[in-house]
Amino acid sequence: MNISATGRTACATASAALLLLTGCGGSDGGAAAAGGDGLSVVAGFYPLEWAASRIGGDLVEVSSLTAPGAEPHDLELTPRDVAGVSDADLLVHLGGFQAAVDEAAESQAGDHSWDVAEVANLSLTASGDDHEHAEDEHAEEGHAEDEEATDPHFWLDPTRLADVGDALAERLTELDPDGAETYEQNAAALREDLEALDQEMSAGLTDCAVDTLVTSHDAFGYLADRYGLEVVAISGISPSAEPSADQLAQISSLVTERGVTTVYTETLVDPAVAETVAAEAGVRTAVLDPLEGLTDESAGEDYLAVMRANLATLQEGQSCS
Ligand SMILES: [Zn+2]
Repeated sequence: MNISATGRTACATASAALLLLTGCGGSDGGAAAAGGDGLSVVAGFYPLEWAASRIGGDLVEVSSLTAPGAEPHDLELTPRDVAGVSDADLLVHLGGFQAAVDEAAESQAGDHSWDVAEVANLSLTASGDDHEHAEDEHAEEGHAEDEEATDPHFWLDPTRLADVGDALAERLTELDPDGAETYEQNAAALREDLEALDQEMSAGLTDCAVDTLVTSHDAFGYLADRYGLEVVAISGISPSAEPSADQLAQISSLVTERGVTTVYTETLVDPAVAETVAAEAGVRTAVLDPLEGLTDESAGEDYLAVMRANLATLQEGQSCS
């Protein structure tokens, strides 16, 4: 029996006894834990999954806890998901966005989880009145109810996603120093793509007749902040927050006052309430994609394509020249 085999056996015994993988797998570059050739990364939801895939390239196996087409805010994890978090080399999540994932990060992922919130610079709070996650049994663990809700939707500002990409390359390099050059190059290429997108959006949304953006849920604050628009959201930060009749009436009259011609529904949210607001005010609806998950009906095959589709939708809906 050689030394390496002895080491593996010792690790397997220790992990079976303790469910702790301290030190085991590290010397194998994480390959043992991944059960494959590269690092295994579990992402909380689509934009983090996409960024991790772009940066990891062929060296990293990426999966997402949020299934395609599922709404990520109120995600619940199966025991299998939780086991996946425990086995992964890295969990990439956004603290405060998905309570179940935060919980798994704390209980299962130990020091192999990374919360992107700090790098993403979550500087915005909900644009309208606070709607707390009334149906979310985990809400009380996150923040006090009367506290202003932090807006988690940073990825709709491409420059913030580029910052997360750079930091993610550093995290992957810590886990797999041999891949350093690949991660660095991929992060630079990702940044280049995101900055090109940012410039297109900036140019495309500079001269718009209407600056007010009426959306289903409050997902577009960072986009609006970046490109000089103002969001009025029909429901709150979470799509499950229901607006009151008073709030709906206020939004309808604001649509008229500000000359809004288009109210935006979303790919993963029931359009009924937004359609009611639009019908009452006599304006159109169009579909924006907050990129919380891709579906077969998404307007593009990845983040960049869907953002460009959003840009085209916004240019028409906001009458931009
Ligand atoms: Zn959202």
